[in-house]
Amino acid sequence: MKQKETSLNIQPDKELIDKTLHIHEMGEEHVASSADTPLRADAFALDDELKIELIEKHFREIMHIMVLDLTDDSLAGTPKRVAKMYIQEIFSGLNPANKPIARLFENKYQYNQMLVEKDITFYSSCEHHFVPIIGKAHVAYISTGKVIGLSKINRIVQYYARRPQVQERLTVQIAHELAEALETDHVAVVLDAAHLCVSMRGIQDETSRTITSQYLGKFQEEATRAEFLKYIGK
Ligand SMILES: [Zn+2]
Repeated sequence: MKQKETSLNIQPDKELIDKTLHIHEMGEEHVASSADTPLRADAFALDDELKIELIEKHFREIMHIMVLDLTDDSLAGTPKRVAKMYIQEIFSGLNPANKPIARLFENKYQYNQMLVEKDITFYSSCEHHFVPIIGKAHVAYISTGKVIGLSKINRIVQYYARRPQVQERLTVQIAHELAEALETDHVAVVLDAAHLCVSMRGIQDETSRTITSQYLGKFQEEATRAEFLKYIGK
């Protein structure tokens, strides 16, 4: 006979949270603006280990409410796996400690044309449904004397993708971060993505894609933008 679980309490474990609230002070730089991911004031009060512990506990409750048998071998480890995946992988971009550090190099080649990096695959999550957004990012910048390693551009895209997101905000966050990291005003970002909340549920449209763009500096000029769009085949 299966042991009956009686706890359906899904309130946050206040005691556990309060215990750790004082551990990390929130930095001064997290001033909210419309482009920022909406985070609570105590966003950085919990360490990753405690977050995993709490999410595991609550995800177990969700599965339990959905009448899944958590004593089954295949399901027993799922709450812990989901919790670790949320914190360490697919939502790791919520933690500023995971932000890539972009080291700048002198632009020794005097290359002052645009640099385009296209077809950067990213996986994000829709913040309204917590299902995947899968897409390609195409970015460009015009150097004002500094360059960064190409892989850093990918890392910046991945960092902001690994949050619950709306595509518009993701686009703006990538553009602003690139502008800041590269110390340039001239940045373009185009995201072309499929939202699983549109295909696997709701309207169930299998083929529609969402395209968003952000153009800063010279990319607001017709000719520069057209050159970029030609490179990315849009
Ligand atoms: Zn959605």
